[in-house]
Amino acid sequence: MAVPEEFGGGWVKDFRYNAVVTEEVLYSGLGFGLHNDVIAAYLLELANEEQKARWLPGFCSGEIITAIAMTEPGTGSDLQGIKTRAVKDGDDWILNGAKTFITNGVNADIVIVVAQTDPEKGAMGFSLLVVERGMPGFERGRNLDKIGLKAQDTAELSFTDVRVPGKNLLGTEGQGFIHLMQNLPQERLSIAVMAAAAMEGCLETTIQYVRDRKAFGKPIGAQQNTRFVLAELATKTTAVRVFTDRCIELLNQEKLTAEEAAMAKMWSTEEQLDLITKCLQLHGGYGYMREYPIAKAYMDARVQTIYGGTTEIMKEIIGRSLKLS
Ligand SMILES: Cc1cc2nc3c(=O)[nH]c(=O)nc-3n(C[C@H](O)[C@H](O)[C@H](O)COP(=O)(O)OP(=O)(O)OC[C@H]3O[C@@H](n4cnc5c(N)ncnc54)[C@H](O)[C@@H]3O)c2cc1C
Repeated sequence: MAVPEEFGGGWVKDFRYNAVVTEEVLYSGLGFGLHNDVIAAYLLELANEEQKARWLPGFCSGEIITAIAMTEPGTGSDLQGIKTRAVKDGDDWILNGAKTFITNGVNADIVIVVAQTDPEKGAMGFSLLVVERGMPGFERGRNLDKIGLKAQDTAELSFTDVRVPGKNLLGTEGQGFIHLMQNLPQERLSIAVMAAAAMEGCLETTIQYVRDRKAFGKPIGAQQNTRFVLAELATKTTAVRVFTDRCIELLNQEKLTAEEAAMAKMWSTEEQLDLITKCLQLHGGYGYMREYPIAKAYMDARVQTIYGGTTEIMKEIIGRSLKLS
């Protein structure tokens, strides 16, 4: 969406457009925000002109599918514990390590890999290396068997002595962690947009269901409990929408802080889980059947409080900013 026209992109640097696409894709039951909402920002902000010319046209046309690989089998929340290592060899890097839970992992043509390049320097010793399809030593595991989000592939990746050319370093050597910290708020906002859209979609489906379904001689929507539950959920959905939209405005003005993005991600996804559980309850037994959209929404939603940083990590980010001790 934000990529300049010369590379085949839409050239609208306004996250409201991303949000509309994310919402519409989500209403139709999919969830492919990573390429448009997350990776585009890395490529636009960090790629040099040669890299942009190499990757962006395919990125925009859809011929190049992208992924970002931070999480490893031994570390997820604690990103500083990343063990994947890249060592300089002339102009190239030799990359070794393993990643897991990588969205688009099976289909990706290029993967932004977070690797330790100078372990002595702690947080300042990480860099982003772009690994491309077909590089010897780059292997993918099976498509992991998730409980939801069945339409998107998630995989383990392994790197054994992968020779990554120096020209595939994205951003500045040693600044990988800073690059992540700068881009994670947008990723978290994208997840909040999905949560807001999912809440609206599930609410609408449920309102329709309780109008149609009858029990004790009248629609279940006529029961006071149903009205009260849905009144509460409609209020929360509106509040989530308003806050998410406010965060989109702040992002557009380049003012969205890490804490606000964490608040949006934490709150919207927790409310999403609560709403879907209650909406499913109003569907009775049908809500438990996979053929009903609410059942699929329930399974898709469960990961929302986990990926992109868990609820607990969001609370840490927000809590730290309160300077309580
Ligand atoms: C479907 C899916 C797609 C994903 N896509 C990607 C992707 O594209 N790229 C990528 O890099 N990763 C991806 N991930 C990984 C995801 O970001 C991690 O799973 C997540 O960050 C949590 O890490 P973990 O699984 O190692 O859990 P852990 O870090 O082991 O956490 C386990 C539990 O401990 C809690 N915990 C950990 N530390 C603390 C603390 N300090 N205080 C309180 N509680 C704590 C956590 O909140 C959690 O409840 C994906 C995951 C899934 C499931």
